[in-house]
Amino acid sequence: KEASRFPKRMLFYTPSMSDGMADRLSLEQELHQALANNEFFLEYQPQVNLKNGKIESVEALVRWQHPTRGQVSPSIFIPIAEESGLIIQLGEYVLEAACLQAKAWQELGLPKMKIAVNLSLGQLFQKNLVSKVEDILIRTKLEPHYLQLEITESMTMNIDQMTLLLRELKSLGIQIAVDDFGTGYSSLSYLKDFPIDCLKIDRVFVRNIQHDKNDEALVSMILSMAKHLRLKVVAEGIEEINQLAFFLEGECDYIQGYLFSKPITAEQLVATFEELHLHTADILSRLNAIE
Ligand code: C2E
Ligand code: MG
Ligand code: MG
Ligand code: MG
Repeated sequence: KEASRFPKRMLFYTPSMSDGMADRLSLEQELHQALANNEFFLEYQPQVNLKNGKIESVEALVRWQHPTRGQVSPSIFIPIAEESGLIIQLGEYVLEAACLQAKAWQELGLPKMKIAVNLSLGQLFQKNLVSKVEDILIRTKLEPHYLQLEITESMTMNIDQMTLLLRELKSLGIQIAVDDFGTGYSSLSYLKDFPIDCLKIDRVFVRNIQHDKNDEALVSMILSMAKHLRLKVVAEGIEEINQLAFFLEGECDYIQGYLFSKPITAEQLVATFEELHLHTADILSRLNAIE
């Protein structure tokens, strides 16, 4: 076979290669090192329940502290990890670290919070995903209903396959959320078949709320549809009080965004937990949302 003359991971640099391309190749090599060198860690972004102002869940977001480049954004390295297959190992690290952390917070005496963990498509295609998740839940002793997996809409897996996989995952007792809802091109019909618990409205629809009537119409439609389908909704990327007001009015369940908190480290979350709640209550009281 022609291809087997070269080792699979051998990379070739040529002078004609653009800087961007060479950079991408070296990032890919550095990603492999990064796992072994413990350069990844997680940050957590609170999701606030609008009914009571409490932080009832947090989303785990992976961070790469690169030894010379500084922090590299996940929107840069996650796609590279996906293409190189490294996402399987990285995803497992993230899942286990997130579950461990959620359990550790419980043991510290914080109110119990759900932990939301992003899954890449490559992980969904993994043969033993369900047993991997089960193993991690057993190892970390996290009760399954405190784990929520975030998946994205995609056309690459057919509806039957996906329904089956999600049913198996759900049978572990965990929750499923559809991330970046509305940005994919899949048909809405999967919503009635998939055993999902939650929709996350993407920031692109939130950004121009109170300025763009079309975005407002779309968001209102998603909120009312979710209510009829008995799905919870998280609105992502809320930065302004005007945006929050719109989602309060629409009876959205959870809010995640810089207005309440940026993603923070586990230590920061513990250290500022009371403060975060005061901040949240203050904002909500300005909108007369809670007493
Ligand atoms: P996502 O899952 O949709 O996560 C939300 C992103 O929006 C996060 O960016 C978060 O920091 C950002 N965000 C939240 N609130 C606001 C806001 O009010 N304003 C603005 N401007 N941004 C806000 P981040 O951490 O850079 O992550 C980007 C994406 O990378 C994530 O989007 C997710 O698709 C991916 N990602 C992050 N961590 C993981 C992971 O552990 N596994 C996988 N597979 N993907 C991950
Ligand atoms: Mg997410
Ligand atoms: Mg999202
Ligand atoms: Mg995403």
